[in-house]
Amino acid sequence: MKISELDVSLYCSRCHDETLHRVQYLNDKIHSTECTNCHRKIEMNLNPTRELYKEVYKRITSKPTRLTKEYKADLSKFIEQLPKRVLSKPYRLMRNVDETRKAFKKLKNHE
Ligand SMILES: [Zn+2]
Repeated sequence: MKISELDVSLYCSRCHDETLHRVQYLNDKIHSTECTNCHRKIEMNLNPTRELYKEVYKRITSKPTRLTKEYKADLSKFIEQLPKRVLSKPYRLMRNVDETRKAFKKLKNHE
């Protein structure tokens, strides 16, 4: 899960003008927009926990198919690569957890 910010010019209904807005993305979805002039903030109805679950679910469910395909393609090669795969998987998962923790922290600070 990643948070990214983008500054865009949008119409603010409080300033009644086009102002610079800070748009915050959670993964690829808009999480909130904030007018940098009057600080009017609009939060989207995004549930960070739900987004995370969806991401993890997608990751888990997409894996077995890939493994099965490789298993059928070349059994010996698959076994040869297995220890490396087992080792690299927790690392990738850890990095994701770290990113997610940062994202959550950032979201909390903005509230
Ligand atoms: Zn404004």
